[in-house]
Amino acid sequence: MPARTPTDKPMASKHPLKHQRAFQQKLVRWFKNEGKPYPWRDTTDPWAILVSEIMLQQTQIATVLGKGHYVRFMAIYPTPCDMAQATEQEILKAWEGLGYYRRAKNLHAAARAITRNHNGHFPRKFEEIRALPGIGPYTAGAVASFAYNDPQPIVDANVARVFSRLFDFQNRIDTSAGNKQLWQWAEGLLPAKAPRDYNSALMELGQTYCSNKSPDCAHCPVQSFCHCADPTSLPIKKSATKVTRVDEFAIFSTDSHGRILLQKQQEGKRRAGMWSLPRREHDHTLDLALSLKTTYAITRYHVTLRVYASHAHHTQPQDNEAWHSAESIESLPMPSPDRRALETILSQD
Ligand code: SF4
Repeated sequence: MPARTPTDKPMASKHPLKHQRAFQQKLVRWFKNEGKPYPWRDTTDPWAILVSEIMLQQTQIATVLGKGHYVRFMAIYPTPCDMAQATEQEILKAWEGLGYYRRAKNLHAAARAITRNHNGHFPRKFEEIRALPGIGPYTAGAVASFAYNDPQPIVDANVARVFSRLFDFQNRIDTSAGNKQLWQWAEGLLPAKAPRDYNSALMELGQTYCSNKSPDCAHCPVQSFCHCADPTSLPIKKSATKVTRVDEFAIFSTDSHGRILLQKQQEGKRRAGMWSLPRREHDHTLDLALSLKTTYAITRYHVTLRVYASHAHHTQPQDNEAWHSAESIESLPMPSPDRRALETILSQD
């Protein structure tokens, strides 16, 4: 979709709140014709919808679907009870490749709460869904409206962008006042009938025509309700946090049986429970040969990871480190940057 300049955006002729029904109808009609057939839209199973919502919190649809993560995860844990019975290591392994592993742990806690407090049946009421561990107002509203067709408003990043443009909101949306305003619009525009289609349509509009960088206003189904003159200037947020550069130093060490030394991240650390190449202080790698240099990004950090070859005789395993055979490493949960680094090093041998 081509980007349009502020001057060629068509002018609004109606106000979304004053012409609420017409706005809802336009949006839902468009969605029914053009909405994408995602697997979580093809079901009213609240567990399947919750899993999709948690996965999509910080991961693009293309990754969640294109790389098969969602379908694979649902095949392993088709119900909350299946997930509740799994160990944390199994769950982290099933989540591998999606990053932000706290989400998997929250989902595990929610599955256990459903099994323990609701006999394994997904709760029916919004308040009960909201009370599950790790579930915020957006996720609870999304599950209640998509699974049960309950009239619950939702505001995610896509909806926030659509509203700030529709209403030409010239204030920051990441303040409590800005956030409150967005939820008021969400409530004010929500139809009592068929909120499932309406909420899905709103999100899809933000993912397609009303995208962040290239809004296609000329073809937008609700452009006659939209009051902003310069879509790319909205929404207004605090300026982006500056990227911080970080260096990490790791070792690759194999013993006489060909086993590889790995380090388990401890509780309280970002990747708690996952296995990675052992990290060392820079000073401890000065005499070692560099095997691999790679980079990866996580939140606001841009990390340069250097991996050094360390002979087993000179390697001092620490308390949280153990030797693993190459086959057993396959089944261990490992962060993607470490998995890629390890595979590259092993392919070089
Ligand atoms: S809602 Fe978004 S895409 Fe539609 S006219 Fe407004 S700014 Fe453009």
